[in-house]
Amino acid sequence: MENFFYKNPVPIDFGAGKLNKLPQILKEKHLTRGILISAPSMVRAGIAQQVVDQSEGKIVAVFSDIQPNPTVLNTDACAAAIRDNHCEFAIALGGGSIMDCAKAACFVAGTPYSAADFVSGKREISEPGIPLIAVPTTSGTASEVTAASVLTDTERGVKALLVSPFFYPIYALVDPELTLSCPPQVTAASGLDVLAHSLEAYYGKKHQPLTDLAAERAASLVFQYLLTAYHEPENREARAKMSEASTTAGLAFSLTSTAAAHACSYPLTQDYGIPHGEACAFTLPSFWRINSTQGPESERLNAFSRRLGFHDADTLADRIDDMKKEMKLRTTLEEVGVQTESDLDTLVSNSFAPNIKNNPVEMTTESLKNMYLQLSISLAQHS
Ligand code: ZN
Repeated sequence: MENFFYKNPVPIDFGAGKLNKLPQILKEKHLTRGILISAPSMVRAGIAQQVVDQSEGKIVAVFSDIQPNPTVLNTDACAAAIRDNHCEFAIALGGGSIMDCAKAACFVAGTPYSAADFVSGKREISEPGIPLIAVPTTSGTASEVTAASVLTDTERGVKALLVSPFFYPIYALVDPELTLSCPPQVTAASGLDVLAHSLEAYYGKKHQPLTDLAAERAASLVFQYLLTAYHEPENREARAKMSEASTTAGLAFSLTSTAAAHACSYPLTQDYGIPHGEACAFTLPSFWRINSTQGPESERLNAFSRRLGFHDADTLADRIDDMKKEMKLRTTLEEVGVQTESDLDTLVSNSFAPNIKNNPVEMTTESLKNMYLQLSISLAQHS
């Protein structure tokens, strides 16, 4: 008998137009003085102000000075805004960057420290921060249902994953209507991030029956609806299905963690500026091929591919490649900016984040380099 432990403490309230339920949730939770942490685009679109107006005076401040791949400085500034305005709750209205920054800021605000102290590992996240309601506006990171926050310390050149049970939002309000204005390139990258979360949760070493269930459902939705959401941004059904896929994938990878494609994405984002989802998708088909032809999960991956309607695992990987091309994402090292053998060697050595160990097939410097070489049109292929 297999043993497993499954837990996700976040209530998920899903549906078109759900943003309007926010005032009711604040009442039910007896939240009276809070901050709205949001993206500059949400402020410009007037949606942030709409949320403030609906709160009947309960939201007393708005903070939106957060960049993509949020930094410890963004987090410290957000924490200061929470303290200065004596806020006792927060709402994060935005994509993964906004939610990640908000999670950390809610906690940092209650300490005399900088977010950098937690990113460096000098201090531990030891107590809950102020409660956070998460309202995603993209379908990608699923930060609304995870205990993780990815922050960058630009001064020290470190991007770190902070994980704490105290980071779970108290409520996830998932309103697919909020993703309607998401531009096609963001839809493409974040949609493939959802696929990476699903597939990596499925083959990751810590997978278990309930995460398998969520991962398979999420992956099948991405294959069915991502291209429609990309080509027809106003297609409400496709947007809703992608929102569902994103949150559902979060229910899987928040327990299994991600694996090799995510590990390889970090230097692609940090050194080459490739958006997170596109960076994950860059090696995702390669790892799907590796893990379905070698190692302990190969049969499961082929069976999974067939259940999703593909001939075999290889055909599923081909489909991801086709989707990337159709959505104008980069598929070769040259397009990414990796031009020389020495660039490649640096990329390989920076790809060994801890989650690469979660891959069912152990990756070595040599096997990883060979894998990357398959994605090159000019660098010499080792046989
Ligand atoms: Zn991701």
